[in-house]
Amino acid sequence: MCKITIKIIYDNCKTNPALEEGWGFSALIETDHRKILFDTGSDLNAFFYNAEKMGIALGEITDVVFSHKHYDHVTGCVEILGKVKENCRVYIPKGFPMRKIPKNLLTQVVQDFAELDKDVFSMVLKGGFLLHEQSLIFETAKGLVVITGCAHPGIVNIVETVHRWRAAPIYLVLGGFHLFKKDSGYIDEIVEKFQFLKVEKVAPCHCSGESTLKKFQKAYPNDFYKIGTGTVLTIS
Ligand SMILES: [Zn+2]
Ligand SMILES: [Zn+2]
Repeated sequence: MCKITIKIIYDNCKTNPALEEGWGFSALIETDHRKILFDTGSDLNAFFYNAEKMGIALGEITDVVFSHKHYDHVTGCVEILGKVKENCRVYIPKGFPMRKIPKNLLTQVVQDFAELDKDVFSMVLKGGFLLHEQSLIFETAKGLVVITGCAHPGIVNIVETVHRWRAAPIYLVLGGFHLFKKDSGYIDEIVEKFQFLKVEKVAPCHCSGESTLKKFQKAYPNDFYKIGTGTVLTIS
C-alpha cells in the first residue's frame, strides 16, 4: 500500500491564481520511493513556470509516463526529459512516437499492464484509430487511485477494466474524463456507472467539461474534488 501526493502542474483550470492554466494536463505523483511525472501539458513555458512556483525539482523525477501522443499531453517533452533524473524511466503506450524520447533514457512501451514499482501500475487501452492511452493506478490503504489523461478509451471502460483487473475498491478517479462534447443524458449515465462501480471519490478535470463537473459534484456532494493547476492532494 503506498501513500501518494498528487500535484497538478498544468490543467484547463487553476486552484492557485499565481499559476498558468491552459488546455492540457500534467501532474506529478510522489510516492515514498518515486516521483512520477504524468504528461507535460501543452505549454512548455507554463510548465516550467508552474513547476518552479510549486517547488518541483525536475532533476528528482524518477519516472515519466505519457498517457497518449496528443499535443495537450506531450508538449515540450524533449526539453523536459532533458532535465529529469539521469536514470529516469519513461513509459509510453504502444503507437507513441519514439522520436519524442531522448535515446539515453530507458523507455518501456506498455502493451496492456506494467508494474512501475510496488503498488504502482500503468494500464494501456485502445482509445481510437491508431491511438492507445495509458492511465496510472496506485494501490493505497484507502483503495485504488486511478489517474487518467484524456480518457479516450472511455472513462467507464477504464474504471471497469481496473475493477476487473484488481478486485479492490476504487477510492478515487482523477483526471480528464473526456466528456466535454457529450450531452446531458450521456453524462448522467456515466455518473450512474461510477456509483454502480462504487467509485468513492471523483476529481474530474481537463477535458471533462463544465456539465460533467456539475453533475458529479451533485452526485458526490462530499466526495468531489474541484481540482486544477496548483492542486496538491495527499492520499495516505
Ligand atoms: Zn487526447
Ligand atoms: Zn487531453
